[in-house]
Amino acid sequence: MSNWRDEKAKANAQALARLSKRLPDAFPQAVLVRARNCSWAPATLRVAIDGYWRAHPLRADRLARALAARSGAPERWRWQVGGDPDSGLPSSFRVPPAPYRQKAFSKGDGFCCVCGQPVYRFGWHADLWDVGPNKNATWHSACVVAWQLWNAPSAHAKLLRKLQGRRCRETNRRLLKTSEVDHQVPLFQVWRQHRDAPWPELLGYWGLPNLQVINREVHVAKCADEAKGRSAARVAAPSESPPA
Ligand SMILES: [Zn+2]
Repeated sequence: MSNWRDEKAKANAQALARLSKRLPDAFPQAVLVRARNCSWAPATLRVAIDGYWRAHPLRADRLARALAARSGAPERWRWQVGGDPDSGLPSSFRVPPAPYRQKAFSKGDGFCCVCGQPVYRFGWHADLWDVGPNKNATWHSACVVAWQLWNAPSAHAKLLRKLQGRRCRETNRRLLKTSEVDHQVPLFQVWRQHRDAPWPELLGYWGLPNLQVINREVHVAKCADEAKGRSAARVAAPSESPPA
């Protein structure tokens, strides 16, 4: 056991020495601090940055939405779903709207397809090196993590539970192991009622502001209520076909 620990400490020391050797004059301090405290030191600076954002998905969510706010929506863009998959349109209203992922509005190489802002060295969102955008990149490292969180928030259930003090958002009872991540405003309702809200404000419905963890039985009841509401709405407005 102690032998294995020695080996690991040696490997980590070597990896950190390699990182230090490659370290440019400017580098995000918080990333370095985390890299030095990792149980396995990252092999490259890029891996260190990716690891930093993976460890801070809520920070990534906030940053991605703030960067998107800097870009704003392209002129003439409207949130649409379905249609030709090659156009980059999302397949359903469950996928966060991302105009810059669409062929028609893409800003091209060196710009992030999620937020529309320039991507710099190591996938960072600020040009700490004064060398301009990285023409080989189309994702910020932070936006990759935000995109994953928006599309699969359940993967972050543990973190969200902790954030809520392990209490159910709907009943304030203790969260059980089987509790589930839920969108406070369901995504079908976002599509129905907030479709024309400005982008990237819309992204808030996929991010932390609209996420909650609730106990499973509460979730099941909420979903049943929502389904009832949906079919009632369909009867009231038969011409509106539900999105895929
Ligand atoms: Zn981005």
